[in-house]
Amino acid sequence: MPRTQTRALRAAGTGASTVRGSRSGKFVPAAKGGHAFADPTACERCGAVYTRKTWRRRDMDPELLGRASWDVCPACRQEAGGEFFGLVEVRGALEPGKREEVERRIRSVAARAEFTQPQRRVIDVRSTDGGLEVLTTSQKLAHRLAHELQKAFGGRTGYSWSDRDGRLVATWEA
Ligand SMILES: [Zn+2]
Repeated sequence: MPRTQTRALRAAGTGASTVRGSRSGKFVPAAKGGHAFADPTACERCGAVYTRKTWRRRDMDPELLGRASWDVCPACRQEAGGEFFGLVEVRGALEPGKREEVERRIRSVAARAEFTQPQRRVIDVRSTDGGLEVLTTSQKLAHRLAHELQKAFGGRTGYSWSDRDGRLVATWEA
């Protein structure tokens, strides 16, 4: 099992080498925070506003937006760079109808998560030989997705951390 996960990580991670500088650079995992943004800062891509140490996108005070600095939020930087910190591997033979159902479920859980916490989002959903591969900006979202899939469809979940880059690989087997 660990062998498959390593292979999947490597395959998914090709071309995204920016993770290496994440500790010393200005680029840090969304789940950990750390890059110093002015308060308030508005993201010029997704419209999220950073204030009191949190990125939000709802109930925004127009006055706050009026005096915000502009920057690009960590999640949008990750999306642009194809970077991800969570990976959900959906395994097992899914019938055509079931597959769409699973994808819909993933999208709806992701939409809810992004609504309350704009830094947690799905970057990509890819088809793989045996199922699906979901890339997320945060470890927590990957964890939650696998958990929600199990809740909705049964099956089994597994979690493992990648020592190399701190990514969480969550698996859900139908
Ligand atoms: Zn953004």
